[in-house]
Amino acid sequence: MTTSTTLPAIVFTDWDGTVTLQDSNDYLTDNLGFGKEKRAEINQHILDGKQSFRDGFIDMLNSITTPFPECIDFLLKNVQLDPGFKDFYHWCESQGIPVIVVSSGMRPIIYSLLKRLVGQEAIDNIDIISNDVAINDETQEWNIVYKDPQSSFGHDKSNSIKEYLSTHGYDASNTPLLFYCGDGVSDISAAKETNLLFAKHGKDLIKYSIREGIPYTEFNSFAEILSKVQSIVAAKGANIDQFIENK
Ligand SMILES: [Mg+2]
Repeated sequence: MTTSTTLPAIVFTDWDGTVTLQDSNDYLTDNLGFGKEKRAEINQHILDGKQSFRDGFIDMLNSITTPFPECIDFLLKNVQLDPGFKDFYHWCESQGIPVIVVSSGMRPIIYSLLKRLVGQEAIDNIDIISNDVAINDETQEWNIVYKDPQSSFGHDKSNSIKEYLSTHGYDASNTPLLFYCGDGVSDISAAKETNLLFAKHGKDLIKYSIREGIPYTEFNSFAEILSKVQSIVAAKGANIDQFIENK
């Protein structure tokens, strides 16, 4: 166990559609699976509470029959990084602020994209807490392996944040400022665990935050997150309320 009471902050972030411009799972479903229309239908069922995120997501992934390594190659060719993320990550690194990816996606995909788009150094420094994948050696069939199969989200992000904090020796007396960056429905539970939620402009997470009364601040890119985090860290959190948009 390692403890540091001198860290200014910890940043937890969603991956798909937050650090990347395209959601890789949606991209695979739309282009290699049953397509955008059917995905939108399932998405609506999830939003309406008729189907859990966990089960709807499995239906989407089951429609993709392309072997997993080819899926990764396809994503490496097509998925782009938020243009401000590298600078954000390097500033955090220079300040000793950990950046942790908390994702409903599958680890090998996140790992490959992070390595290609940010570099080996990012792989060494950025923890990835996510779901995984199981590949059948003979048939090449693959299936998502949920981190928290009992959770309706498949990955309970709030639980992952709590686990991270407790295994790193943080409790109520020494927890630094906590930030969460996200764009979708699976980010809601995580948002409640942090001091400030960065919610992506025009995405579902904003609707949910308003509906659930979760304080948030909007972002369009990590360049905006960087300037707000710099300002909040400089003020040791005293100015956090200024940034909340749904007071
Ligand atoms: Mg997302």
